[in-house]
Amino acid sequence: MPRPLSQAPHISGRLPQDHADRPISQADAPPVSTFAPAPRRHAGRSARAWKPKHVYFTAAAWQEEHGRRIAERLAKLGVEYEVMSANRLPKLGGATTRETYRKAKNTLAIVNAPAGQFKLTPIPPSADWQFHLAKGCPAHCQYCYLAGSLPGAPVTRAYANLDQILDNLAAYIDPHRALTTFEASCYTDPLGIEHLTGSLSRAITWFGEQSDARLRWVTKYDDVSPLLNLPHNGQTRCRISLNADWVTQRLEGGTADLEARLVAMRKLTDAGYRVGAVLAPLMPFDNWRVDYGDLLDQLRNTLDDGADLTFELITHRFTPGSKEILLDWYPNTSLDFDEERRSKKLNKFGSHKFVYPREQMKELKEWFTERIARDFPEAEVLYFT
Ligand code: SF4
Repeated sequence: MPRPLSQAPHISGRLPQDHADRPISQADAPPVSTFAPAPRRHAGRSARAWKPKHVYFTAAAWQEEHGRRIAERLAKLGVEYEVMSANRLPKLGGATTRETYRKAKNTLAIVNAPAGQFKLTPIPPSADWQFHLAKGCPAHCQYCYLAGSLPGAPVTRAYANLDQILDNLAAYIDPHRALTTFEASCYTDPLGIEHLTGSLSRAITWFGEQSDARLRWVTKYDDVSPLLNLPHNGQTRCRISLNADWVTQRLEGGTADLEARLVAMRKLTDAGYRVGAVLAPLMPFDNWRVDYGDLLDQLRNTLDDGADLTFELITHRFTPGSKEILLDWYPNTSLDFDEERRSKKLNKFGSHKFVYPREQMKELKEWFTERIARDFPEAEVLYFT
């Protein structure tokens, strides 16, 4: 359907507080739609539910109510686990980096979030505060931003002291503002481990009881079935990380394919959730305009006009540290790590990252913002970086 051209969407360094993220009640939430998505070839390839080979509970995590809930889930799924007598995890002991990586990506540790995590830190431009349900992720994205951010082998650690983590958030809700936002996916993909932990469902339910706080999380997985009947009350924005097929098929091992993610997004909007598209990492590969245009067309076909939708646009970047780790983990990657083709960007701590040169950034920004303004006049672009 042809759409009117509109002005470029608002781009800001902070989440807008006055429109897309205003608090709403369940009664305000969009009604369940009868819209049938355009016929598609298939429902996509779902991500396989992760079944870790090694699961450990620390002694402290085993004492937590949520730790026991996780244990019950594991038992139902037929996943064996071991309870440690102390709060240390066994050494992985891989002979090579690749072997350690493989073991770590097959290991789930149930631990308590340390005391330091109860002092939240801001996370602009995504949200006011970040908090964590887990750190680590079972997927194998060859650009993963966790490489270099999380120390050691990439074991997934899920937190058992979830009830305290959620209670602690109340102290960060600003009573002088209509809405305080919390990001839960800085160091994990919470949906990728939801079948094992149930933590995301509990967080969504907790936010559903707050009138002045909103949860934000993002995923590359697609099994949203546990979330569809939760009392979210419009207080959660579920974002789906989307990319052109060229990127998804080459670089995002273990995740759902594009079709399956779009189906999941549609289910979330039908369940009354606010949604978001995180287009990341954007890469100016050959024919990127055509492939990203296809992606946006598919997204348009998935959602109703007027869906409560935001966009976040994040270009690919890497640090010297993340490059080294990622090349160790994925020595045959087709990802372009050529520093000669990038600009060096310093941060306030004196370290640097490599981003696309200014001209390329400008081109990407203009193309995406114009295209989104044309095809998604109802949506808001929260930021481009
Ligand atoms: S899904 Fe996200 S967190 Fe998980 S490996 Fe991929 S980029 Fe990393």
